[in-house]
Amino acid sequence: MADDFKVVGGCRCDQDPVRFAYTQRPVETHYCLCTDCTDVCGGALALITVVPKAGFRVTEHQDKLKNFDTKPTAHRKFCSTCGCHMYLEVDAFADFVLVHVPTLDRGQDIGMMPDRWVFTNSKHPLVTIPDDGLPRHPGWANSPNLG
Ligand SMILES: [Zn+2]
Ligand SMILES: [Zn+2]
Repeated sequence: MADDFKVVGGCRCDQDPVRFAYTQRPVETHYCLCTDCTDVCGGALALITVVPKAGFRVTEHQDKLKNFDTKPTAHRKFCSTCGCHMYLEVDAFADFVLVHVPTLDRGQDIGMMPDRWVFTNSKHPLVTIPDDGLPRHPGWANSPNLG
């Protein structure tokens, strides 16, 4: 069956940006409020899509990528020039890459909509979760997509 599914993203460098792509559909997408995600991004929340590692690759300027472990089990990939945090690898999900959705080029169908909020216990006090009807979990919870 032909499937030309492909989603591309990259860092913020004007010159020689790190570029990456995934060509297999995500297994799930979620909003994360954990302090690891928010603090390293300087963001109020993280929007993450989980894609099979077999379908993910860095396509340009991999040499600029650096790793920072926010936990011994969480390996976060940054551009060493612009500082953009694009994706992470987590030991518990060894066959997957967790991609920060805002680093994907806008206007693409990323392959799966968010299905839940996780780590709401870590939510920054100035952030209000919208009334979007999605399940909210105080810590980690697997996607209903994965049973
Ligand atoms: Zn960069
Ligand atoms: Zn997180």
